[in-house]
Amino acid sequence: MSFIRPAKELEMYRETQILVVGGGPAGIGAAVAAARQGKKTLLLEKRGFLGGNITACFVENCNYFLAGTGFSSEGIYAEIEKRSYETYGNDNMRQRNMHAFHSEYLKVFLDGFLQEAGADILFHSFVNEVIMDGDAIAAVVVQTKKGPMAIKADVVIDATGDADVSFAAGVPYEQGREKDGLCQPGTVSVRLAGVDAGKLLADGDRLSEIGRIFKEDYRAGRTGLPCRRQDLPFGRLTRAGQISYVNYACAYGLDPTDPGDLSRGEIECRGYDMDIYRYLKTHFEELKGIEITEIAPEIGFRDSRRIRGLYRLTIDDMESNRHFDDAICAFPRFYDMLAPDAYMDGDGKVDGKGYAGHIYEPVVDSRTFEIPYRSLLPQGVSNLLVAGRCISADHVAESGTRAISLCMMTGQAAGDAAALSLDGGQKPAGIDVKSLQNMLVAQGIHIPA
Ligand SMILES: Cc1cc2nc3c(=O)[nH]c(=O)nc-3n(C[C@H](O)[C@H](O)[C@H](O)COP(=O)(O)OP(=O)(O)OC[C@H]3O[C@@H](n4cnc5c(N)ncnc54)[C@H](O)[C@@H]3O)c2cc1C
Repeated sequence: MSFIRPAKELEMYRETQILVVGGGPAGIGAAVAAARQGKKTLLLEKRGFLGGNITACFVENCNYFLAGTGFSSEGIYAEIEKRSYETYGNDNMRQRNMHAFHSEYLKVFLDGFLQEAGADILFHSFVNEVIMDGDAIAAVVVQTKKGPMAIKADVVIDATGDADVSFAAGVPYEQGREKDGLCQPGTVSVRLAGVDAGKLLADGDRLSEIGRIFKEDYRAGRTGLPCRRQDLPFGRLTRAGQISYVNYACAYGLDPTDPGDLSRGEIECRGYDMDIYRYLKTHFEELKGIEITEIAPEIGFRDSRRIRGLYRLTIDDMESNRHFDDAICAFPRFYDMLAPDAYMDGDGKVDGKGYAGHIYEPVVDSRTFEIPYRSLLPQGVSNLLVAGRCISADHVAESGTRAISLCMMTGQAAGDAAALSLDGGQKPAGIDVKSLQNMLVAQGIHIPA
């Protein structure tokens, strides 16, 4: 059975030059870049705060894999890192992730940072519909408490992580791994208080040791816990006695765009959070005083829909560090794929072609990969750009492109490109890419010649 929805006239609620949908890393990069070019910019976010997975899923330790390498953050991300520490300090006592954000402070910082750049923000604004005029988006429809409202924009940037705007506009896409459509698991992290941080650090990083013991216990079948996650990454450890997150609870086989699957994932993961809390409290003397202070407000995903763009970045491109004339950035070679079917088969290596099970390839020496501008340009819609984890890439390639600071770089490129397209009166696909590259380089992004 199906229903026909009667057509309804929508009044225009707002009009803007550049509309960014999604206030995560990619949307922040896009909105700040666009607004700094003097364009009227509006950012829509379905939640009541910015930051995306960093703040909603406690993914605070974004660039841990750069520590000890010759690489550092670039562009708007580097600016946020520096300024948020200057503003709020850094109470993290763990050396191994000294550069993690305090996600609650970051929410407040980002409010001011976006406003200072000149971008307007509308929270509680969920987009899942567009009105097309030929091959262009004439208006985006926002679902609000007041009902649906139309927002008109010259250029739209989809930074929803799930490519919701592109999906609504009919852009072709793929989801999950090629052979069976399975995505990486969804995770609901948990925040703990009541630890003696000094004691935990007295003989080195005891939290890493606890993670190792847990893995051994899991593999020997000693934990008795149902979640199939073997790793136990811990977040910041603070003087106030907080472990800012335990990234453990994983629900497998979920479609990140299906409300039924999302509901199963939230409930399943909250159960796993209770399990790991009890396990830690009862197995380790240093953690016997812990309590849960927060369970992440929403399940987080590492991958979801990926648009089909004018270029689809492949793992071969990344492994060969293929040079693109329209490169918008270069990023250290790094992959992190949690096995979509939960079994840690394989040896963690990419091997250049595909993968079996999980992949974890840390940064080695100076190897990088490039992202072409065409991966941000969706097929079939002329005034839309895409940024973040939903750009055009194959599934394994996405396990590298999903890095938070890189998502912000693709956002920054999309914001600049949108501004250039308005200046030149062209569609985003028609801009002078050399001008875009010059702009990005001037903003601190390294682009290989
Ligand atoms: C548990 C976990 C651990 C991770 N660990 C790391 C790590 O250590 N390092 C790292 O670099 N990466 C890590 N990642 C991956 C990283 O978080 C993502 O790849 C990254 O956040 C993607 O950025 P994004 O802006 O594309 O999407 P998101 O961070 O998902 O942000 C999308 C934003 O858009 C909003 N939104 C979505 N749909 C709509 C809509 N229809 N209308 C309006 N707003 C919408 C969302 O509320 C959100 O604010 C991890 C991910 C998870 C889940």
